[in-house]
Amino acid sequence: MKISIIGGGITGLSTALALHKVGIQAKVYERAETLNEIGAGIWLQPNAVQILQWLGILDDIIQEGHQLNKMEITNPDLTPIKKIDEVVVSDVYGNQTIAIHRGKLQRILFEKCAELELVELGMPYQHHQSADGKTTVYFKDHSIETDVVLGADGIHSLVRKAMGLPSEYRKTGQICSRGIANVTLPDHLKYEGKEMWGKQQRFGFSQIAPDLVYFFTVVNEEKSPSTVSRETLTSLFADFDATVTDLLNASDQIHTTELADLKRLDTWHNSNTCLIGDAAHATTPNMGQGACQGIEDAYYLSRFLKSKGTALEAFIAFEKQRRKKVDYVVNNSWNFGKLVHNQAGQLLLRGVMKITPEKVLRKQMKSLYSVEGL
Ligand SMILES: Cc1cc2nc3c(=O)[nH]c(=O)nc-3n(C[C@H](O)[C@H](O)[C@H](O)COP(=O)(O)OP(=O)(O)OC[C@H]3O[C@@H](n4cnc5c(N)ncnc54)[C@H](O)[C@@H]3O)c2cc1C
Repeated sequence: MKISIIGGGITGLSTALALHKVGIQAKVYERAETLNEIGAGIWLQPNAVQILQWLGILDDIIQEGHQLNKMEITNPDLTPIKKIDEVVVSDVYGNQTIAIHRGKLQRILFEKCAELELVELGMPYQHHQSADGKTTVYFKDHSIETDVVLGADGIHSLVRKAMGLPSEYRKTGQICSRGIANVTLPDHLKYEGKEMWGKQQRFGFSQIAPDLVYFFTVVNEEKSPSTVSRETLTSLFADFDATVTDLLNASDQIHTTELADLKRLDTWHNSNTCLIGDAAHATTPNMGQGACQGIEDAYYLSRFLKSKGTALEAFIAFEKQRRKKVDYVVNNSWNFGKLVHNQAGQLLLRGVMKITPEKVLRKQMKSLYSVEGL
């Protein structure tokens, strides 16, 4: 079976490695001529980390990234609201959250794929079609024959378009800015991921390497033009702990994105094509789970393609397996983002967090972090 994966982001590259691991050869076709991840960090939570370990690349990721012992939601002055002890999480799931530069994660995945000849750059997909039992994938300058197409081409997926699946890009009305500062945090902050809540703005940060700190801000759109400047952010976060201004001032570049997700699709597949990662279920980043869910897709889809008789059977089993968790992440993340940026909503969230028993939190964690078979 010849499998073509469109898109060499975190999902596409992880899927090629997962398929290789179960003994199925696939090829990733990425439109970019060179690797081009933006200067930002990413938090990889234990569900994804377990799979990266299964893929045999965890040591590289730990070496290039930074393990976090605690994730904490705080007030603007860094006094705690709620914390997750990652050491306890690690006792249960074998791993704790790892923060890493996106470019480094992308490079580790890409180099492993390149070593195994699983990836081609400079291949902008245009569409694909099946006729007389043959499927042809058309790129800008040429075409290839394949049996199966996996669409890992992100929220604006052209594979999804070629499948004729209607989709809706849902804007949140919020803007996220991200940056990297060349600094080392003081010892008491070095191993912690923080998210500070103001009335209508949030600031998060963590160390991602010995001398690099990743930070992000989220603000309501009317508060911030699409060309958010360092000055705008400095004034919006003036009342926050001084760490915020220090990080904003120490960063070279700040990347600004509108936050959006994909409204739930009716299906992710047809007989020989399946969407994975953001192309199938892009989520807002409030739970830090978008890429983690793409990595889970890689794991489960590879296992079903190995164990089922046909691609269609594998796709049906894959969707059945994945829908519940993906829906949970997309819906909770969306609702969380809406509540936290609204005064009454945030008050409600703070109250709920205060009274939620540890037992319930552990149950939620279990449903998020467990990966069957690992
Ligand atoms: C502000 C922000 C913070 C986030 N933080 C986290 C976090 O901490 N933890 C986490 O788990 N997730 C996080 N996410 C989510 C995460 O970034 C995404 O879920 C993840 O990058 C999706 O990966 P993907 O490979 O599915 O899609 P993409 O990253 O969109 O990759 C798609 C790839 O396909 C390629 N492509 C597109 N079109 C074509 C074409 N026509 N032909 C060939 N190639 C094509 C693109 O060039 C790209 O390489 C965050 C997202 C945002 C916006």
